[in-house]
Amino acid sequence: MLFDTHAHLNAEQYDTDLEEVIERAKSEKVERIVVVGFDRPTITRAMEMIEEYDFIYAAIGWHPVDAIDMTEEDLAWIKELSAHEKVVAIGEMGLDYHWDKSSKDVQKEVFRKQIALAKEVHLPIIIHNRDATEDVVTILKEEGAEAVGGIMHCFTGSAEVARECMKMNFYLSFGGPVTFKNAKKPKEVVKEIPNDRLLIETDCPFLTPHPFRGKRNEPSYVKYVAEQIAELKGMTFEEIASITTENAKRLFRIN
Ligand SMILES: [Zn+2]
Ligand SMILES: [Zn+2]
Repeated sequence: MLFDTHAHLNAEQYDTDLEEVIERAKSEKVERIVVVGFDRPTITRAMEMIEEYDFIYAAIGWHPVDAIDMTEEDLAWIKELSAHEKVVAIGEMGLDYHWDKSSKDVQKEVFRKQIALAKEVHLPIIIHNRDATEDVVTILKEEGAEAVGGIMHCFTGSAEVARECMKMNFYLSFGGPVTFKNAKKPKEVVKEIPNDRLLIETDCPFLTPHPFRGKRNEPSYVKYVAEQIAELKGMTFEEIASITTENAKRLFRIN
């Protein structure tokens, strides 16, 4: 059984063939999927999907790239929706310095507000970090994020950063990039992560793992991530599948 902890099945890329994508996930034993909403349309769609599919859960938050668009009403709306029993995390949230649509200051403010919200509603957080590791870690510390913990999604940082995050009750989630031929660092880092902090994800439709790199990603491909991690850790696929699924259930409090 596999657990894809980060999927955007609410994206328009699945408008025409969602049912087939879901069937393929099921035939590859993807038992549960967290669909991540990060703005008004994608959160709305994620909330619909958790009603339609018993094996789908939602994480809802505001993406740092669009931080400039988030209003107080949006934040209140996320808080209200988070009371749903199948909303299992707040996010994705964080900092993304690759794009400059939202200034760093705005991104930081929106990030801090969402950590505070997650603490209020007692839900773990899902962190998006691109080219902003130092500021992300500083803000997590300053805001006391260890009270809720969560996930560093699509983790590509160093073992040292991983250790700092684990001290704050975070799990490290690995996706397609760990399967890339030239991904020396993530492959080394995976070996150093204790089994009880490991998660897997697709971040589909993006970051498609080898051997489908460049094509649209989907939850059934999470098996390639599990296979790669199993190989790196010298464990069986079944062991990694079971460990990462148990970790996800524990973090998201799913029975
Ligand atoms: Zn992300
Ligand atoms: Zn994402």
